[in-house]
Amino acid sequence: MTKQITTRFAPSPTGYIHIGNVRSAIYPYLIAKQSGGTFILRIEDTDQARYVEGATDLIKSTLQWLGLDWDEGPEVGGPHGPYFQTERLELYHQWARKLIAAGRAYADPTPSETIAAYRAADQAAKIPYLYRNHRPTQTPEWHPGIPLRFKSEPKNYQWQDLVMGDLKTGPEVLDDIVLIKADGLPTYNFAHIIDDLEMGVTHICRGVEYLSSMPNYLALYEALGVERPYFISLPHILAPNGNKKLGKRDGAKSVDLYRQEGILPEAMLNFLACLGWNDGTEQELYTKEELITKFRIDHIQNSGAHFDEVKLLWTNGQWIRRLFDEQGIDQFYPRTIDFWPEVATSAPEEYKKRVLSIIYDRLKTLSDLRAMTDYFFVDPKINLAELTTNKFLKKFSETELGQLLTTSIDALKQLQTWDATSIQNTLNQLLVDTGKKTAELFSLIRISVSFAPFSPALDLTLDVLGRETVLARLGAVRTAILRD
Ligand code: GLU
Repeated sequence: MTKQITTRFAPSPTGYIHIGNVRSAIYPYLIAKQSGGTFILRIEDTDQARYVEGATDLIKSTLQWLGLDWDEGPEVGGPHGPYFQTERLELYHQWARKLIAAGRAYADPTPSETIAAYRAADQAAKIPYLYRNHRPTQTPEWHPGIPLRFKSEPKNYQWQDLVMGDLKTGPEVLDDIVLIKADGLPTYNFAHIIDDLEMGVTHICRGVEYLSSMPNYLALYEALGVERPYFISLPHILAPNGNKKLGKRDGAKSVDLYRQEGILPEAMLNFLACLGWNDGTEQELYTKEELITKFRIDHIQNSGAHFDEVKLLWTNGQWIRRLFDEQGIDQFYPRTIDFWPEVATSAPEEYKKRVLSIIYDRLKTLSDLRAMTDYFFVDPKINLAELTTNKFLKKFSETELGQLLTTSIDALKQLQTWDATSIQNTLNQLLVDTGKKTAELFSLIRISVSFAPFSPALDLTLDVLGRETVLARLGAVRTAILRD
C-alpha cells in the first residue's frame, strides 16, 4: 500500500504573510487534497528574537480567507499536536539525546567570541569556514543551556527534488550545524526534520532558499536512521522586471492588504497557483476544486516566475464577473459591503444592489466601487471645463451645448416609464432629431450627470439614477453653462 500523502505549511510567525510565501501553502494544500491526504499547519515559533505578536492570527486568517483549511494544526488539533514548535521542546530533546547516544551530536562549550575568532582566522587565511574544523576536543555532557551541535561526516550526497531534478553535492558543504541553541530551543534545521518525521510528512514543499542546506538535512535523516521525504523546492517569485526576488519595494504586499484592497480570495488563489505552474493548456481561470484536480507537481516551473500585478487585477476582474453571474446579486452583494464610498453609507441596500448590477463588469477590484460610484449617491460638483474641453464636445459653443441639453431634457421628460429600454429609445430618437453623433450627445449627457471619467452604459446609468436626479442634474448643468 502506498503511504498516504501528508504535506504541511510551516510558517514562522515573524510578520505578515508576504505574497511571495503563499505558494508554500497553496501547493502543499493542493498536493494533499488531490490525493485525499492530510494538510498540516505547523507554527515554527522557535526564533524568539523575530517573533511578532499577532502574526499567527494573521497566518490563520489568511489561510482561512484563501480557503486553505488545514486538517491538522492550531485550533483544529489532530493526532500529532501540539502544532507550535515551542510546545514540542521535549520531543526535540528526546531526539537530541538519541543522536548523542549514537555519537552524532555533541554539547559545544565554545564561547561565541572564540567562534567569531575561528571565522575571522579562516577568512584571513582564505579557507572556507567550517565549524567541523574547529570541533572542540573536550565536550561536556549535554543539558539544555549548552548548544548542541551535529557531528557531521563529510561525504557526497545525491538526491532528487521533484521540481529541481537530480542534485548532488560534495563534502565541502557539510558542517556541524547547531541543533539546539543555548536557550534550549531547537534551530529550524533540527526542529523541522523532527516535526516532519513525527507528523508523517511525505512531501516537503518550501522555498528554494532551503536548497543549499539540503546536504545537512540529508545527513541528519541518515544519522536519525529515517527515510527521506519527497522534496519540492519552489523557485522564487521574481519582481515584475529583472531577475531579482520579489521584495517589498517591488510592491510585494501582504495578502491581507490585497484583501483590504478588494481582491477576491478566489482570484488570489487562482493567480498565485498559476504563478510558476500551468496545466499545459490555455486555461487561465481555475476554481479551487479545479486546481485540486489539475495540479501536477511535475508542471511546477523550475525557474522563477515574475509577479505581475496587472495580471492579478485582470484575474480579479474576471472573478468578480464570474461570481456575480453565477451567484446572482443577492449572494454577491455581501462581499462588497466594506467597499462602498463614504457617501453611500446611508443609501438603501436595494439601491446599492442596482448600482452594483450595472457596474460590476467594469470592476477590477471591489475597492473600485469607492472610486467609481460617488455620483450615484451625491450630486457631482459641476465642472464646465470637463464639457468644454472634452474631445467630442469642444467643437460646440456653450450656447449650443446648452440648447442640446434643453432638447435632451425635454425629450426625457416625455418618458412615460423610466426604464433602460425607454431611455435608450429616447436617446436614439434624440440622435435622429439633433443629427449629433452618438459620442457627442452621449458624452454630454454622461458627463453632465456624473462628472466622472467613466460610467456604465448610459441607458443603465440614467435608469439607476432615476428620473428626478437625471433631470435635475441636466437642468443644473444647462443653467450653469448658459450663465457662464
Ligand atoms: N519556518 C520556515 C519559514 O517560515 C518554513 C520552511 C519550511 O517550510 O520548512 O520559512
